[in-house]
Amino acid sequence: MAIQRSGSEASTKGAAENFTGAVRVDPLVKERPPSRLSGGLVTFEPGARTAWHTHPLGQTLIVTAGVGLVRQAGGPVTEIRPGDVVRIPPGVRHWHGASPTAGMSHIALSEALDGKVVDWMEQVTDAEYRGD
Ligand code: MN
Repeated sequence: MAIQRSGSEASTKGAAENFTGAVRVDPLVKERPPSRLSGGLVTFEPGARTAWHTHPLGQTLIVTAGVGLVRQAGGPVTEIRPGDVVRIPPGVRHWHGASPTAGMSHIALSEALDGKVVDWMEQVTDAEYRGD
């Protein structure tokens, strides 16, 4: 058994090439083979969001605070709130982030396929973020 103490892993900033706006990542679950699960707590300032991306084995998002938005390609922008659990299927192009006026935090969990948990694509434009 292992207990990773709160605050023992340094926070990092979401990389500018993969996010719009200010995003903090607090690592929670480091991959420990044979498990392929990893994840962290991701905190988005108002208006901040991921770039478009896919996950080879999908992703689970558990909203813990604030008001967020999630959108899959071809679908509507959908509001998410604390307690909501979002399942992103494998290979589905999508983004997630905060609402324009309220920040949002979610725990993001995914399993690696061949060592990879995400494939990043282009940034989400303001029009795509608004749902135009
Ligand atoms: Mn995702």
